[in-house]
Amino acid sequence: MLDLTGKNALVTGIANNKSIAWGIAQQLHKAGANLGVTYLPDDKGRFEKKVAELVEPLQPSLFLPLDVQDGAQVDALFAAIQEKWGKLDILIHCLAFANKDDLTGEFSSTSRAGFTLALEVSAYSLISLSHGAKALMTEGGSIITLSYLGGVKVIPNYNVMGIAKAALEMNVRYLASELGPHNIRVNGISAGPIRTLASSAVGGILDMIKHVEASAPLRRTVTQTEVGNTAAFLSSDLSSGITGQILYVDSGYEIMGMA
Ligand code: NAD
Repeated sequence: MLDLTGKNALVTGIANNKSIAWGIAQQLHKAGANLGVTYLPDDKGRFEKKVAELVEPLQPSLFLPLDVQDGAQVDALFAAIQEKWGKLDILIHCLAFANKDDLTGEFSSTSRAGFTLALEVSAYSLISLSHGAKALMTEGGSIITLSYLGGVKVIPNYNVMGIAKAALEMNVRYLASELGPHNIRVNGISAGPIRTLASSAVGGILDMIKHVEASAPLRRTVTQTEVGNTAAFLSSDLSSGITGQILYVDSGYEIMGMA
């Protein structure tokens, strides 16, 4: 039985009710976890208000700003967790960013700044958040990130984000190796294409979804809830022997050689 009662779970990356992180937060809550939620701060406070209203029914006991490019915010986040919870059990890293210009057209046109930005936000952030989590996962823990097939195979327009996801997946392996002796597991979920704010920036995402619906073994793409259920499994003791893995939740699309 999947039971996360008594577990403290930090969920990053909720922007709206289409976010994969929202699907994950709902499933962790359903399994009994105590939630902490972060939002990306902006000048007008729009995300804060929107995310606060959305997550209110899940009654998170922590609600904090997090821009992963701001080291002081990362430090403040873990200081707040230490003070309020004392320990952390689950970290959901469910965020990424690249300039829209870098998610369409010629890959060789990627700028130095665009490359650095995408890699910092989408891949380095798993390292910095895991560093903070390690100190607080005193009773072991589970760290989960979100990847995509474009990190291992060429997908039209995914471009620089594919490089970021390749780095992210390798981060999972290095972190799993380091943190395993502390009974902290690190895994990734490689989700099939889902319409969200982030994916709408990738050129041709709707065509990609149609392609998956036509050719994946299950003849459909996946939902935020299905990804959330897998995240709940990877957060729980039911997956206690699994670390360093990238689990595909993609209706089976990844196995196809000629889709
Ligand atoms: P989303 O737009 O709902 O979520 C992306 C989140 O990243 C947002 O909440 C945003 O606030 C956050 N973010 C961006 N820059 C940030 C920063 N500097 N600091 C902190 N947070 C920041 O889109 P999503 O599709 O739910 O994306 C979540 C994760 O899932 C991403 O890693 C994405 O690459 C991955 N993923 C998405 C799909 C898909 O098809 N939607 C498929 C596979 C993997």
